[in-house]
Amino acid sequence: MVDRRRLLDDFLRLVQIDSPSFRERDVADFVREILTGLGLKVFEDQAGPRINGQAGNLYARWPGTGEGPRILFCTHLDTVDPGRRVKPVIRDGVVYSSGSTILGADDKAGIAAVLEALRVVRERNRPVPPLELLFTVAEEQGLVGAKHLDAGLISAGYGFVLDSDGPPGKIIVRAPSQDRIAAVVRGRAAHAGINPEDGINAIQAAARGIAPLRLGRIDGESTANIGVINGGIATNIVPERVTVEGETRSLDDGKRAALTEEICRLFTGGVESAGGRVELEVELMYPSFRLAPDHPVIQSALRAVARVGLDPRLETTGGGSDANILNALGVPTANLACGMQKVHTTDEFIAIEDLVKSAELVLSIIEG
Ligand SMILES: [Zn+2]
Repeated sequence: MVDRRRLLDDFLRLVQIDSPSFRERDVADFVREILTGLGLKVFEDQAGPRINGQAGNLYARWPGTGEGPRILFCTHLDTVDPGRRVKPVIRDGVVYSSGSTILGADDKAGIAAVLEALRVVRERNRPVPPLELLFTVAEEQGLVGAKHLDAGLISAGYGFVLDSDGPPGKIIVRAPSQDRIAAVVRGRAAHAGINPEDGINAIQAAARGIAPLRLGRIDGESTANIGVINGGIATNIVPERVTVEGETRSLDDGKRAALTEEICRLFTGGVESAGGRVELEVELMYPSFRLAPDHPVIQSALRAVARVGLDPRLETTGGGSDANILNALGVPTANLACGMQKVHTTDEFIAIEDLVKSAELVLSIIEG
């Protein structure tokens, strides 16, 4: 069965390896060494140089001896800031950071769970279906590694990403698409005290653009946000340039597109009413996905969750993950919770019991 000590050791070693996005070399080497030790040939794709990162996505195949479609397991190697020199602390069966950094259980809990399951498969030597293993880079920067994945590598019938928060048992079956909207607002510079009438205030124009927008939760399926604004140099200069960045998401691709169109239209109208000009850029960050409860990938997950004695929960999320990209590549992929909690904060933690359950869950999916 799952070796708790070995699993926890792997996890604690993983979180102590610095791996900010685009700087995943050390953690990639660590994972590669374990996979190689299990007798696997590890391939690193060309994503590294293509995204200006230290490492590419790692990919390996487990030949398999049993029946069934090839199953993909995907986790990501990078972590968010502040994530350097993580010092894990264990209190009452729960692993925390020291409080000044994140823990990095996102997504090192997923990595540790997959590696431990593979070790057990190797030891038990039972027939298992062929497996594909994928470890992506720069996931936290907008799924950048997965977007640059050498897609020709992937041939799985279906897959699982281990990158959702909360206790294991949760299965993400639906996730939104996202548009990123970037605007440059141009006004005209002038001296604020001597000749302000010659200026057009880009900050005020941007404010007029933002004021009429519907932001926050738009409906049960859609959200919108303006998250970044930058501009201005000094109080004595009428500002000539402001940048504004935002996003829209929806489980319904048509609603997302309409919402993006509405934001662009109202924003432009507001800016122009103040005499400014707008340059807009819209980028689809990732497409949505939806998996039916009776789909083989969900059925496989539900059986495994039940076998390891967990409560199955089919859920919708408001966030994107590598599962969005893999689904778009034609591999039906669910995102599974792997125990991490309060992710992207210095309060991040994981219960050791949830880490163990996550490894058991992966093992149970593999052994069927
Ligand atoms: Zn993650």
